Amino acid sequence: MPSSSPEGPVTDRLIAANRRYAAEFTDPGMDARPVLKVAVVACMDARLDLHAALGLELGDCHTIRNAGGVVTDDVIRSLTISQRALGTRSVVLIHHTGCGLLNLTEDFRHELELEVGQRPSWAVESFKDADQDVRQSMERVRTSPFLPHTDDVRGFVFDVTTGLLREIDPVGDAGR
Ligand SMILES: [Zn+2]
Repeated sequence: MPSSSPEGPVTDRLIAANRRYAAEFTDPGMDARPVLKVAVVACMDARLDLHAALGLELGDCHTIRNAGGVVTDDVIRSLTISQRALGTRSVVLIHHTGCGLLNLTEDFRHELELEVGQRPSWAVESFKDADQDVRQSMERVRTSPFLPHTDDVRGFVFDVTTGLLREIDPVGDAGR
């Protein structure tokens, strides 16, 4: 059953909002290549407004989002296309405080298998330490053989209570 509210099914609300958006919309005549030549990989979290938080305008960047903002094979696929076909040069990785993945473990896959009789092919990519997972994500980007531009890869944790980004040292305390 579709999700509903006093204003009706949620998708109908979105369609109505789009009609209003399109009524005011003028074709910006933009190229598909991001103006700032940057790709941002971030969690899908609803509290994270990337454009507002980073001062980005329409056309500035690629945004690649998934649960956790983790660097999966599919994120590497998008980054590869972003760099090789659409000219981006920099990668920004953003995890955040209070992420839903902090409460999950790989048991989630096992529980799914017990429930539906099929084990998902994907890893949950859960993590206990957002800082460490940002480091892991930076490392996956830096070591990907498919990406020609890996010298400007930076990672951050966004605090959902203050709106501030905290940069993560790629080496970390353990490596000092
Ligand atoms: Zn999250």
